[in-house]
Amino acid sequence: MASICALAIAAEPFETGGLIVGVTTADSLWITRFLEVAVAKRHRSRFLIPAGATHPVIDDARTEDPRVGYLGDWHSHPVDVGPSSIDFSTLVDLAVGSLGHRRLLGLVRPIGPSWTLELWSVNRFRRPRRAEYQLTGPVPPPGDAAPNK
Ligand SMILES: [Zn+2]
Repeated sequence: MASICALAIAAEPFETGGLIVGVTTADSLWITRFLEVAVAKRHRSRFLIPAGATHPVIDDARTEDPRVGYLGDWHSHPVDVGPSSIDFSTLVDLAVGSLGHRRLLGLVRPIGPSWTLELWSVNRFRRPRRAEYQLTGPVPPPGDAAPNK
């Protein structure tokens, strides 16, 4: 959480963004990292993951922890503006035909005095919904899951 806000602040007055990485459990998603993806040119009101960038970044994250996968995209708004219809439709387009149909959209923006992360659940069959989240500790390291170890 703190790190994603730090990335957004560092990018001001431009937008930045990247991928949401984590694991899917039976009843929820567990975000482990927010990865920033470099773009050729930053804009003040637009952020698009470059074509072809997602798979290598996820592959990279998987070499550190093979359990994680792609959960969605995040980006920052340097001003207090909510997600645009383009923000949602981009993610829905990505979800169509690719693995799984549920995607997270993460948006970091300054709300009042502090930067805030909001998450939306994006599904090609439904309107986007705000997703609740809780801060937890890190997932146990790979191979540490078994008790008495
Ligand atoms: Zn946006």
